[in-house]
Amino acid sequence: MKGLTVLGSTGSIGVSTLDVVARHPDKYRVIALTANRDVETMLVQCERFKPTIAVMADPDAANLLAKGLNQRGVATEVLSGLRGLEIAAAIPDAEIVMAAIVGAAGLLPALAAVRAGKRLLLANKEALVVAGSLFMAEVAAHAAEILPIDSEHNAVFQCLPPSGGEGLTRGGVKRILLTASGGPFRTTPLAQLADVTPAQACAHPNWDMGRKISVDSATMMNKGLEVIEAHWLFEAKAEEIEVVLHPQSIIHSMVEYVDGSVLAQLGNPDMRTPIAHALAWPQRIDSGVASLDLFQVARLDFDQPDLQRYPCLKLAYQAIQAGGTASVILNAANEVAVEAFLSERLAFTEIAWVVDETLQRLAVEKVEDLDSLLSIDREGRAIAEQVVQNRVLSSGMG
Ligand code: NAD
Ligand code: MG
Repeated sequence: MKGLTVLGSTGSIGVSTLDVVARHPDKYRVIALTANRDVETMLVQCERFKPTIAVMADPDAANLLAKGLNQRGVATEVLSGLRGLEIAAAIPDAEIVMAAIVGAAGLLPALAAVRAGKRLLLANKEALVVAGSLFMAEVAAHAAEILPIDSEHNAVFQCLPPSGGEGLTRGGVKRILLTASGGPFRTTPLAQLADVTPAQACAHPNWDMGRKISVDSATMMNKGLEVIEAHWLFEAKAEEIEVVLHPQSIIHSMVEYVDGSVLAQLGNPDMRTPIAHALAWPQRIDSGVASLDLFQVARLDFDQPDLQRYPCLKLAYQAIQAGGTASVILNAANEVAVEAFLSERLAFTEIAWVVDETLQRLAVEKVEDLDSLLSIDREGRAIAEQVVQNRVLSSGMG
């Protein structure tokens, strides 16, 4: 029996994780669940899984949750705030921690799990984008383990040779091929992109995900963040990671070896596969995902991404090349711009523009320590907010 904490349990990844866990009550016990404000979902999850603690980042939501649990006679202890999230992440009874909070807000809780030496199932890619080198150094220092949940990175992990060692070239690996669906606007005429709505952007053709990552998939900033994630996870240089458009999302990514072999991981686009893989690793367990029907799929297409359509992908590659705090600024500006788009204060095509503009206004510095990263993150957000605000005033939106 393994103890499990799910950070971000009410979200898309959190719910899929609990779906897999519920299929194996003999293998996993839920020790802690956390969310931001969604009290209703958390109440249902606590009744079902009876965790030792439940955390709401928002204090008012925590009060509501405590009342609700009390009424239902559920003995789960309720905590709140960042401190509560960190306690849940480091709780001794859980050896596995699923990091599924969205955005840089997930960084400190994920780090708390790493510092407690946990096996970290990492969905929260923004944590690595923001803290990359520091994060990986903490993993090594505390003998923690990272298993990637992002479907591409999980696929790469499954296709890589098992050995450790220096850099990607270990075990004869030549490069990583990260696949990308291209999102809902892959074939939309460029001139129409300025007018697409949040609902259209969130209607992903293959994956059912949270709103932020759905918008990131539409701009392909998601793939950009994933290139940065792969860079840190697999010690790969930017030029060793190629993005391949693959609209069917059946191949989740590939690894090419020096002898010309290319290994791919295939499956239906359902996050329960990488979740089950990482939960049970190195064993395999049932995930509830249907068998892949290749006759139904019939064909697999590949294409090169068009950087005119997806300028965010280019910005992300530039951020890796620039190094230092560039990806912190990229991520902060993107979070602000996506939020502004979702609240209809910014046009879809202005997301990349806000990120670019913010990157140009802030000097890239060397990464010193966590505090300086967090302060650059705050500064990036403040500047991006200003850029959005000026835009809103000049366009009359909002
Ligand atoms: P989501 O929006 O559906 O859920 C986010 C979760 O985080 C919720 O439980 C929410 O309550 C919690 N949360 C949000 N803000 C918080 C804050 N400030 N403090 C504490 N908790 C907070 O998001 P998701 O789609 O499940 O994505 C989660 C992470 O997994 C993201 O980093 C995303 O990029 C990554 N990911 C998701 C998918 C997917 O299929 N959904 C695939 C690959 C990677
Ligand atoms: Mg992904």
